[in-house]
Amino acid sequence: MIIQPKIRGFICTTAHPAGCAKNVQNQIDYVKSQGAVANGPKNVLVIGSSTGYGLASRILATFGCGAATMGIFFEKQAEKKRTASAGWYNSVAFEQKAKEAGFYAKSFNGDGFSDDMRRQVIDAIKADWGKVDCVIYSLAAPRRQHPKTGELAKSVLKPLGKTYTNTSIDLTTDKLETVTLPEATQEEVDQTISVMGGEDWEFWIDALEKEGLLSDGAKTVAYSYVGPQLTQAVYRNGTIGQAKDHLEATAKKLDERLKKINGQAAISVNKALVTQSSSAIPFIPLYFILLSRVMKEKNVDEDCIAQIYRLFTSALYTKNPIDCDEKGRIRMDDKEMLEDVQKIVGENWDKLTQENFAEYSDLDGYHKDFLALFGFGLEGVDYDADVDPDQKIPSMCEPSIS
Ligand code: NAD
Repeated sequence: MIIQPKIRGFICTTAHPAGCAKNVQNQIDYVKSQGAVANGPKNVLVIGSSTGYGLASRILATFGCGAATMGIFFEKQAEKKRTASAGWYNSVAFEQKAKEAGFYAKSFNGDGFSDDMRRQVIDAIKADWGKVDCVIYSLAAPRRQHPKTGELAKSVLKPLGKTYTNTSIDLTTDKLETVTLPEATQEEVDQTISVMGGEDWEFWIDALEKEGLLSDGAKTVAYSYVGPQLTQAVYRNGTIGQAKDHLEATAKKLDERLKKINGQAAISVNKALVTQSSSAIPFIPLYFILLSRVMKEKNVDEDCIAQIYRLFTSALYTKNPIDCDEKGRIRMDDKEMLEDVQKIVGENWDKLTQENFAEYSDLDGYHKDFLALFGFGLEGVDYDADVDPDQKIPSMCEPSIS
């Protein structure tokens, strides 16, 4: 099958296996070029491991720390004429490369919010590892079925208290447009907290602790975002910000508990990056297109793997960790938030018109990064070659644990 990108709104409905493999290889190459992480974890569970920050974390854990990994994700296999999702192909490639290099890797595809998934993973940890020493929580989901009540919650991206209007970009036409978002109801806030807050992270740590599977010194980290004034109304002061507040409060609770085993629960505030989740947030892509131009010009831009490498080596696994902010969070978004970066982005946003847009933006870079998420447009990949879309994830072909 010859696979081409098919874009529908902010999603691409096809993915290219060879392109996704190249994406994974590029991240492995980056880690190798930076060198091994001293004193890193050895058994790492990554929840949300197939794309974006979670995939980068799994790659770093394996190829930077030499760790065995288990990864959980919610992806689609190929079916008839439909390709698999990008996260599926990323996981195929990751596992193949990990196994070739002699590393243990096991993957679980399904609902990471469910108790059934927790059971399967716990059984695998008991059987294969005995203990886990690092748990990375990198889920980004549109909905969650509550594992205890069965209630379905949906995450929405809305402002609080009043409607919000600003300039946004229609990425199907590359035209600027004015978008108004209605204010969220309390019910929508609560549902967004249920999906993207910390309850599920806590359930995972509860379950691992109850079974005695956290090793002495175990660490857990979840990813958050803050962003500038420009995006506050829709992000940090909006429904998703309420969920991030909950996630960050959960980190404090978990940290107190893990201290008893010399461990740590941390929040890393990461930089804005093009991922499948962030592309769907109103106003964020336009901010990102302006930000990216400035960060590239100033030579301070980073991608997911560079962020995670820096997180591990400067904050999580070092004797001299960088200072946290006043709320106890690790700030990997320090370069995004540099005063001179934000000043230029803010000025450019205010001056923006359709005519001068190209001058201030990195629109081509955005489209390139977006397509690359699905394995398209990567150097060295033959997109005219016939490829088999039906690719197997090696560990899923192994007999399951009874
Ligand atoms: P992403 O969309 O690239 O990855 C999400 C992952 O969650 C995927 O592996 C997906 O398969 C998995 N997933 C979704 N629903 C699931 C379910 N029900 N069960 C199991 N797995 C499921 O997202 P991302 O941008 O890497 O975001 C990861 C975290 O990083 C989020 O908490 C996000 O808020 C945070 N973050 C993102 C950015 C950014 O700009 N992208 C910046 C800072 C922080």
